[in-house]
Amino acid sequence: MPGLEDLYREVILDHYRTPRNKGELPPPATCTEGTNPLCGDEIRLFLDVTDGVICDVRFSGHGCSISQSSASMMTAAVKGKSVADVRNLVHRFKEMMSIEESADEAPAPVGSMGDMEALRGVVKYPVRIKCAVLGWNTLLEALGGDS
Ligand code: ZN
Repeated sequence: MPGLEDLYREVILDHYRTPRNKGELPPPATCTEGTNPLCGDEIRLFLDVTDGVICDVRFSGHGCSISQSSASMMTAAVKGKSVADVRNLVHRFKEMMSIEESADEAPAPVGSMGDMEALRGVVKYPVRIKCAVLGWNTLLEALGGDS
């Protein structure tokens, strides 16, 4: 019987092999670049925001399976959502990926994050966390930074 870890690996590989919203968008869509030098991951995020809603999103780039599949999940999760909702989602994701320094087990409970739950296992490998949050940090930057 496949364990949860195997299931998560499948979800990650699925997004890596068949990335959602891969490509580019022409201007006036914005293009924001993000890099994770530790791993050599690169992401270019194209965002079309109209009336406070993310109408369209694409990403291109290359890197490890974690960075690319996380970016794929991110684009699928934010498309059609309001900027306010997306900011909220970015924070929830980063919260999920943060290491609690006091407790090395039992990450903070989060609501249903869909496919993104698959990335939770990455928390156990601190060097990979930067891979997983790359697309999300790039998205935050594209939205004008934290607020
Ligand atoms: Zn990486």
